[in-house]
Amino acid sequence: MPKRVTVVGAGPAGLMASIQAARRGFDVTLTDKNDRPGKKLLITGKGRCNITNDCDIDTFLANVPRNGRFLYGALSRFPPREAMRFFREEGVALTVERGRRVFPESGKARDIVDALCRAASAAGVSYVKANVRSLPALPVILATGGASYPHTGSDGGGYALASAAGHTVTPPEASIVPLLSRDIFIEGAAGLTLKNVAIDGEVGEMLITHTGLSGPLILGASARWRKGDDIVIDLKPGLSREQLDARLVRDFALRGPQLLSNALRGVLPAPLIPPILAKAEVAPGIKACETDKQARRRIVDVMKAARVAITDKAPLSEAIVTRGGVRADEIKPATMESKKQDGLHFAGEIIDVDAYTGGYNLHIALCTGYAAGMGVGA
Ligand SMILES: Cc1cc2nc3c(=O)[nH]c(=O)nc-3n(C[C@H](O)[C@H](O)[C@H](O)COP(=O)(O)OP(=O)(O)OC[C@H]3O[C@@H](n4cnc5c(N)ncnc54)[C@H](O)[C@@H]3O)c2cc1C
Repeated sequence: MPKRVTVVGAGPAGLMASIQAARRGFDVTLTDKNDRPGKKLLITGKGRCNITNDCDIDTFLANVPRNGRFLYGALSRFPPREAMRFFREEGVALTVERGRRVFPESGKARDIVDALCRAASAAGVSYVKANVRSLPALPVILATGGASYPHTGSDGGGYALASAAGHTVTPPEASIVPLLSRDIFIEGAAGLTLKNVAIDGEVGEMLITHTGLSGPLILGASARWRKGDDIVIDLKPGLSREQLDARLVRDFALRGPQLLSNALRGVLPAPLIPPILAKAEVAPGIKACETDKQARRRIVDVMKAARVAITDKAPLSEAIVTRGGVRADEIKPATMESKKQDGLHFAGEIIDVDAYTGGYNLHIALCTGYAAGMGVGA
């Protein structure tokens, strides 16, 4: 009789766990409430899927703010290089971009999903559509994901299954998520995209929305944000304070008779001029030639470090990743097996580990899935 295992959740973690268990001879039933596997995976990286990060383990762990040590074994056995090798062997050409982010060369997340599905069916995994509401017969690998983007199927339902088996679930909260703000900085600027701005030295793109701040740079910063923190934006990271001041001197000399609010249009998008002047405590109605050195310096200071008050994170439903979940210290790191219930394993975002942006979260799903698939019945 072949050994059986049920894997609940067909995201990257459940798929990888199923593939490894089936390759080890298990009769694997992979269950998901969706018609097909990988619904969330298909929308990752704006449909391009940043599948992993081509870095070493220390660099990886520097991008995991909590419970990084728990991942060490899984990462050692299935590091980013192995994930890249796995996808290349499945026929997916990969490309490494800025920040060592790895994408399929085709720019299509679909290729990653198809590769995982191909490997799963080649290994003999059977797929069953079902919404699992109570723990199936053991052994089971729970890979039901977090609680963000619930329309993809990852609605936090797996936490109840884990709790019923005696596990503690750290309350889920949003990580990698837009930030909410009522700061004057966003007044009148909704819809504005700012390219080549910097937060904490990282240069990128952000978006001003009706409710606050979003876009890749903000999503990245949100994972580090704590209640009470402001976001400080360098609007001109390519220029030093001295260079920016020299630029303003030149612009103000050229546009002397113009209102200051017009003279700044060469260096700032129009909707940002009123809030920047307000933050610099400079009247917008004065002429460029009337702007004294102190006022100019204050404008430079605000442009180099525009402080935006943040009220909160956007809700968990809008988050890229869930922080919280099944406590990592209740899981054996080598096999992802529960310390509470023999034969119950976990994989992926259901576990209380999350990382910054850069492909690390999908890799956590892959390497914990690998460990669970290799660990079941071992
Ligand atoms: C918009 C977006 C973009 C992202 N982009 C990236 C990126 O580019 N790179 C990156 O590293 N990370 C990215 N992420 C994060 C990444 O998608 C997740 O961390 C990853 O998908 C987690 O994998 P998982 O297998 O643990 O769970 P999931 O992918 O969430 O899969 C869990 C599966 O379990 C199923 N399920 C849940 N409960 C049940 C149940 N009771 N019964 C049956 N089935 C159930 C769900 O239907 C779902 O299919 C992104 C996330 C979002 C939302």
